[in-house]
Amino acid sequence: MVNRMKELPEDALKKYQRAGKIAHDVRESMKKIVHEGMRIIDICEKTESMIKEKGGRPAFPCNVSVNEIAAHYTSPPKDKRTIPERSLVKVDLGVHIDGYIADTAVTVCLNPELENLVSTAEAALEKAVEALRPWLFTSRFGSAVEKTIKSRGFKPISNLTGHLISRYSVHAGKSLPNVFHISTSRTSLGEIYGVEPFVTLADGAGKIRSSSDAYIYRLLRHKSQKDVYAKQLADYIEKNFGSLPFAERWLKGCVPHDRFDAAFSQLLLSKRFMAYPVFVEANGKPVAQAEHTVLIVKDGCLVLT
Ligand code: MN
Ligand code: MN
Repeated sequence: MVNRMKELPEDALKKYQRAGKIAHDVRESMKKIVHEGMRIIDICEKTESMIKEKGGRPAFPCNVSVNEIAAHYTSPPKDKRTIPERSLVKVDLGVHIDGYIADTAVTVCLNPELENLVSTAEAALEKAVEALRPWLFTSRFGSAVEKTIKSRGFKPISNLTGHLISRYSVHAGKSLPNVFHISTSRTSLGEIYGVEPFVTLADGAGKIRSSSDAYIYRLLRHKSQKDVYAKQLADYIEKNFGSLPFAERWLKGCVPHDRFDAAFSQLLLSKRFMAYPVFVEANGKPVAQAEHTVLIVKDGCLVLT
């Protein structure tokens, strides 16, 4: 492929493309694997191990969000939850190569009555990809996505947005809302975005609320830790995941088993790391999502996933 980007070095582009190809392949495989009754932890672990087998690293824990759960559910250790009958299953995965991240998601529809909801999320993503180009007002982008969703009789989730991606950062500041909003923010040539419309039914609230559950964490700035096991755990996280999100499942064996819970709680309490709450549709309605990672190029955008 011709590199028309002056803003993105050739080496970085190659790594984004490699991450994007792996994310694409894993997403397409998982689409065929997810079925009713399957253990959610098996979906998470299968996704993450496929990413590694293909030479990438997970950029964040695989999210498996069912029905009214819009985002941020990943299995805790020994999770017993399974995929319910006739559900909507959003599999959202991230791959990084040397910190260059590709973020993608698909909704697997196990309920024939919700097929239009899923195809609307896909159509909205298609519209978003069509609209994206350098110097585009994010407000115009939001309007176009919102119109696509409403014209099909559904509702966008107004408080979940696409986001700028940068090296080792999944949410690098700028956002791409999926509804009209007042803003002077614009896209720029060479930027990488995760583009992700979320759609719910017409009688949904059209927004999410945070639940009290959280299974995904991220290390915050450095703090000295007195407790030897808390320090050992923080050092392990810093070395292996840096500033990227992680799951408790990923920490097996890094401190003695009987010391883990105390060390983990201490790090949370001392605000050494933050927890991402699970997001739920505020009226409890099902949510569909579709996501690609794109690069803004001269005449539009290039889908990497
Ligand atoms: Mn995602
Ligand atoms: Mn994303």
